[in-house]
Amino acid sequence: MPESIMTRSVREILTSPSIGSDVRVQGWVRTKRESKAGLTFLEVSDGSYFQNVQVVVPADLPNYATEIPKLHTGSSVMVLGKEVQSQGGKQAVEVQAREVSLIGACDPAIYPIGKQKMTHEYLRDFTHLRPRTNTFSAIARVRNVLSMAIHDFFQQRGFIWLHTPIITGNDAEGAGQMFRVTTLDLDKPPRKEDGQVDFTQDFFASGVNLTVSGQLEAEAYACSMGKVYTFGPTFRAENSHTSRHLAEFWMVEPEMAFADLEENAQVAEDFLRHLLGAVLEKCPLEMEFFKQRVEPAIIDTLRAVLDNPFKRLTYTEAVDILKKSGETFKYAVEWGIDLQSEHERYLTEKVFKSPVILTDYPKGIKAFYMKLNPDGKTVRAMDVLVPGIGEIIGGAQREDREEVLLARIKEMGMHEGPLQWYLDLRRFGSVPHAGFGLGFERLVQFVTGMGNIRDVIPFPRTPGHIRI
Ligand code: ATP
Ligand code: MN
Repeated sequence: MPESIMTRSVREILTSPSIGSDVRVQGWVRTKRESKAGLTFLEVSDGSYFQNVQVVVPADLPNYATEIPKLHTGSSVMVLGKEVQSQGGKQAVEVQAREVSLIGACDPAIYPIGKQKMTHEYLRDFTHLRPRTNTFSAIARVRNVLSMAIHDFFQQRGFIWLHTPIITGNDAEGAGQMFRVTTLDLDKPPRKEDGQVDFTQDFFASGVNLTVSGQLEAEAYACSMGKVYTFGPTFRAENSHTSRHLAEFWMVEPEMAFADLEENAQVAEDFLRHLLGAVLEKCPLEMEFFKQRVEPAIIDTLRAVLDNPFKRLTYTEAVDILKKSGETFKYAVEWGIDLQSEHERYLTEKVFKSPVILTDYPKGIKAFYMKLNPDGKTVRAMDVLVPGIGEIIGGAQREDREEVLLARIKEMGMHEGPLQWYLDLRRFGSVPHAGFGLGFERLVQFVTGMGNIRDVIPFPRTPGHIRI
């Protein structure tokens, strides 16, 4: 094997062809086609690019009769050849092979990712192989571009990327049901005199959980360093069987000192626009594919979001609109209810036809840490709602007054003891501050038009389901 030949990714070959140069291609056969002229055409994918590279295999290769018949969809191959101007109209460049080696065979009789039309549901049984399809490799590349765009946005604005813990000692972060983390013997856990499990004998000498949000810890750093953000895995043990909930998902949580709710909402809006712009710019082939195969309106929707300011109104105004709409909802609307996704989607899809930022929710349906308004009934919360999804971002200005926060903690029946550190942030140089959480998979759903959140994360975890 001549070592001097450069390996180039399919992306490199197709986006910056070097006609006449020798090249090595490594990947998986997507399709094989024999032409009447006695040639074989291979479409080879390596996942780097939406398109495959066409490899032309001439019949005079020494192993043409022995090895080429063994190549099937899914086989891995190594090709040595030359980049040449393509004869067909589909792409500018193709690879004229002079050596084709089968690296790993793939038996078409049992390969689950054949050429037949496969549904997203079917592919959920093959989370290890679905990245070999156009849809799932496109989603993985979009996730990658979005991840980097998240960092770009915050880094350009002076935010510090903060790594908050995954195992947390906070037993009420206010955002959802938690998964317990323990090394106790579940068959015979140590018990206290009153019969309760004795977590003082557990690994951390106390009960701990997987985090539902890095916000509280992010506040500590915002109240020291100004502007921070987290981007990491988040866990919620809620038994939600919907197309928008996972038990393990990724969340982006900026937190800003000296910021109020208006500034928070503006950052959220600018942030979403930045992310959509990045995908439209860097993933044009993927977006065209999602438009053709997943959601015909997807590119228009994203462009409309880029071009128009988000609609802002209060929860109370939204409830009025919903009540007067004449629409029959599954859950009746009354002031004080937690809006359901049918209500959120009605507002963003039917009433405003744009993303909506709802603010000032009733305190009873929001977490303890949100800043109480002078009316004593509502808090400085905000949710960003987008078409097709409903809530994509939840945020708030935080309660920065120690006595009000303490009163809210007590009012909600929580223990203040474990939250002393959090109250300290209000005791020692308290500042107004605000932040929000963007669900990364909801963002990917919004951007791609994919209907089910299980299909936009590589290995989904939902109640009753964990495969790999
Ligand atoms: P929802 O009401 O939709 O269940 P939430 O109000 O519980 O969401 P927040 O605590 O505000 O969610 O979390 C911030 C963001 O994280 C949400 O706006 C959403 O984008 C995302 N998110 C929340 N729960 C989940 C989940 N189970 N799976 C995926 N994303 C989630
Ligand atoms: Mn929320």
